[in-house]
Amino acid sequence: MTTFSHSKIQTFETCPLQYKYAYIDNIKVVAEDTVETFLGSRVHEALEKLYRDKLFEKHMDLEDLLAFYNKQWEDLWKETIIIVRQDYTQDNYRKMGERYLKDYYNRYEPFDHGKVIGLETKDILPLSEDGKYLFHIRIDRLMDMGQGLYEVHDYKTNTSLPAQEAFDQDRQLAMYALWVSERFKDCQKLRLVWHFLAFDKEMESFRTKEQLEDLRKEVLEKIKEIEATGKFPPHVSNLCDWCLYKSLCTMWKHEAVLEEKPENEYLNDPGLKIVDQYVKIKDEFDRHKKEAEEKLQKLKDALIAFCQREGISVVFGSDKKITVSEFEMIKFPPKNTEERKVLVETLKGIGKLDEVLDLDVFTLGKVLRNKEWGDEQIAQIQKFISMEKGYRLTIAKKK
Ligand code: SF4
Repeated sequence: MTTFSHSKIQTFETCPLQYKYAYIDNIKVVAEDTVETFLGSRVHEALEKLYRDKLFEKHMDLEDLLAFYNKQWEDLWKETIIIVRQDYTQDNYRKMGERYLKDYYNRYEPFDHGKVIGLETKDILPLSEDGKYLFHIRIDRLMDMGQGLYEVHDYKTNTSLPAQEAFDQDRQLAMYALWVSERFKDCQKLRLVWHFLAFDKEMESFRTKEQLEDLRKEVLEKIKEIEATGKFPPHVSNLCDWCLYKSLCTMWKHEAVLEEKPENEYLNDPGLKIVDQYVKIKDEFDRHKKEAEEKLQKLKDALIAFCQREGISVVFGSDKKITVSEFEMIKFPPKNTEERKVLVETLKGIGKLDEVLDLDVFTLGKVLRNKEWGDEQIAQIQKFISMEKGYRLTIAKKK
């Protein structure tokens, strides 16, 4: 039995190596909260309390809501919570949460639109008939709006607002909606609602039952693809700063080692020394190569001019001589031009194209790597391929 969640699939899509660390190697790391996740949790629990109190016929006014939020913030805040954006303090983030809650409260008070039928609802959705694949469900707030309309609400504390297409293609809430459509037999229509609290904005998208069935198949395929893959390449992005495995990751581990070293040992690190030397020599090499190429071109021009002036073809040096031969260069229309296409067609027409074509192994390699052809075609090429390890060095600026 395999249980997946939206975040598990998303981890694979964001960075397969991070997925491997988390779900295959099961590496447990002490997950210190970031201030963003801490803020998200505090706002979520405040809104959950607001609606739960309402279920118990207790109306929370705005002051009570903010008092609850601030008390939770104070009680649960730990100095170990990471603030990546160092220009901002804990208090900046706390005040952001206060603003989110005030805006939300003023917009939706008295919170009586529809019937709350679930708060922080957790369940498991079977994806396949054999029950082998399961999907975690966790809904912030589930609403029965009457006449077969159900709404899945999600609170977001992100500071960027995605475009509408992202909501129309969203997988997370749509999977939750699939669970709702199976659970509530009178369900006719499903509205997905995202509350982007930072912008006091409500985003929505609708799903039909057919769309949800298609999504179930897609997710199942995706899960099988993840299970079958043996490759987990790292994918470096801005999200690395929030990755729990950064200090273990092949792309960042050395930086973490350097950061741990005292200043006097830092410059003696063997890796750092090799990189500094490599970059220095490569820079010198590139500079000298460019200068040498420019000098050679000038000397070549001078030599041709000398031969023309003196009416000679060979110029003698101390040990060597240089012969200057004149020849006619055949030029063809450049690639990707109309004329070039006509040339190819003409060669084809006279039955001579094959004689002047060569196999472009670079393009063939790219086609095979990206699986751009069908399995059968690739299988026929496979017997000609052998794999060899190669290494490419790329120099880039540190962040
Ligand atoms: S640090 Fe970045 S590249 Fe490395 S595992 Fe995490 S997300 Fe992937």
